[in-house]
Amino acid sequence: MKIKILGSGSGIPTLGKNHACVWINFSDKNIIFDCGEGTSQQLLKNGLDKAALDVIAISHHHPDHVSGIFMVLQLLHLQNRTKPLNIYLPEDIDFFVKMLNYLYTFPTKCTFKINFALTSEITKDIPEIQAIPSNHMLGYKDFVRQNNFSNKLMSYSFLIRYNSKQVLYSSDLWSTKSIEKYYPKTDLLIIDALHPEPDKILEIPDKTDARIILNHGLSEKLEILISDERFEIANEENEITL
Ligand SMILES: [Zn+2]
Ligand SMILES: [Zn+2]
Repeated sequence: MKIKILGSGSGIPTLGKNHACVWINFSDKNIIFDCGEGTSQQLLKNGLDKAALDVIAISHHHPDHVSGIFMVLQLLHLQNRTKPLNIYLPEDIDFFVKMLNYLYTFPTKCTFKINFALTSEITKDIPEIQAIPSNHMLGYKDFVRQNNFSNKLMSYSFLIRYNSKQVLYSSDLWSTKSIEKYYPKTDLLIIDALHPEPDKILEIPDKTDARIILNHGLSEKLEILISDERFEIANEENEITL
């Protein structure tokens, strides 16, 4: 399994960092988890454009995780890609297709077929990947209800198991509770270091032997407290092999 964090920035645009995107390759499949701004350039830079990419799996619909998808689709269309692309979305596929039509990125006019499915269903197609629901969007619950919006508040972390190796990509979390039980068997943990309580990040080395990469920015509190050598800061140049 090969892994590279193509976008390590938080929701705040930062010079020198792209928005959320993690590339994983196993059994000849190129998969990206999340597709923030900067992903199309990163695909070009890493030779993942044209027919190379197989799957885009989106964890949740915050712009830093999904806004790059429009330019990725435009790039692949303009490259005359013909190989189908599978896109997994956390909620409301119909609404997303309407948005593509609104942007004149008509899926039915594209040079390649786009197969849409829900992120929660990804295991059916790719048994090595499990989508783990998280509480990241639940803070919007009352607002969404009061305004009668159709948002489903879905958000996921991803667990990838291949050849007895395990990668856990948390994406965004408010608490680490939903993923803690997966720590012990994980070999590579790519964790949101911005949102969860610093204590919950600092206790991770006691719970796993995994290589721990702090991703998606670093909270100010955590930056002051961190000293353990077990933590690495996400780097968009490093390719990891497991
Ligand atoms: Zn984010
Ligand atoms: Zn988010």
